[in-house]
Amino acid sequence: METKKMVMIPGPTPVVKSIQNEMGREMQAFGDPRFVADYKKLIADLGTLLNCSGATFPLAGTGTLAMEMAIANTTRRGDRVLIVSHGFFGDRFIEICERKGLEVDVLRAEWGKIIPVREIEEKLKSGRYAALTVSHVDTATGVCAPIAEIGAMVQRVSPETVYIVDGVAATAGEFEDVDGMGIDILFTGSQKAFGVCPGMFVLWASRKALARREALGMIPEYYVDFAKWLPIMENPGKYFATPAVNLVWAMAEATRIILEEGYRARAARHLKNARAMQKALSACGFTVLADEAHRAVTLSNLVYPEGLDDVTFRNTLYDEGITVAGGLAAYAGRMFRLGHMGNIDINDEVATLGVIERALRRCGVAVEPGKAVGIYMAEMAN
Ligand SMILES: *Cc1c(COP(=O)(O)O)cnc(C)c1O
Repeated sequence: METKKMVMIPGPTPVVKSIQNEMGREMQAFGDPRFVADYKKLIADLGTLLNCSGATFPLAGTGTLAMEMAIANTTRRGDRVLIVSHGFFGDRFIEICERKGLEVDVLRAEWGKIIPVREIEEKLKSGRYAALTVSHVDTATGVCAPIAEIGAMVQRVSPETVYIVDGVAATAGEFEDVDGMGIDILFTGSQKAFGVCPGMFVLWASRKALARREALGMIPEYYVDFAKWLPIMENPGKYFATPAVNLVWAMAEATRIILEEGYRARAARHLKNARAMQKALSACGFTVLADEAHRAVTLSNLVYPEGLDDVTFRNTLYDEGITVAGGLAAYAGRMFRLGHMGNIDINDEVATLGVIERALRRCGVAVEPGKAVGIYMAEMAN
């Protein structure tokens, strides 16, 4: 019998049945009062969840479109931006900004490490920066940035700079608080720690970000213009561009699940589970790429032990029942990336570790049966 295939990549993540059911609902017109009420409630709930007193935009598109929306609404051609990059997704902002004709300064960390806040502070003090971008968790490296500390520093040394946080692999797994952390723009994608199908992003904008948008006057971008969407977010019965009806429902169910668990409790669960997973996997010979002090809780980037072949190992994992992601750039062929975020539970993780043990043995790495699972279970019992 063929094994079940679990999708343990850093997004899309497994989608629970109650969310799948929302995706499968009968269509409604976007002007149907029932849908308008659902959309309105989602916008309000997401604003509350992330403590954002500005505006919340849950729209059709992926995380990358949200990156473009963040830059489009806060900068004009010729402005200077500071990009703090902890990996591949941090780097993605470079091209987005360059295409818009912005002056780009980049602080790029060695993979697995962070740029110290002190260094960001010095750079910010050296010039006038319209915006600063940081990925909370960079999916390519599994590094988690100290976003609250950076936010406090920006407010202190460069309050005119708009602080943009990429939460695509973090929001709803790592704890975030837009107003409380001094974040001006935060965005995420439906397919990561919200545990919904791909296709929707949510962007939160602080009052300061909204004021910046107003100060810009007309901007060249159309679909992602805050000014086009603000009236719709106020009254979702109006039309600008068709909302992703079923994704609105799916995100509403995901948000209900998060609120029911409690965001703090959900982040604590991610932390506990991640550390247990990372301990178990380290005992099997893998090395977690990210420094221990800056390790994400939503995924692990695991460097192979000597002699383990990437393609053979990942194909064996697939055959045994899980899909994982490969390494990127310099780490292609040298590591795999394991997502453990969203609505997965202890049983999914035990199964995942069991698959990894079996695949290791099939690939000739001697691992006692139950070793990773045993360590994980012991950690979880604490
Ligand atoms: C996945 C991801 C993105 C890109 O999101 P898409 O939905 O694939 O466009 C951006 N940033 C981070 C940190 C991500 O993990």
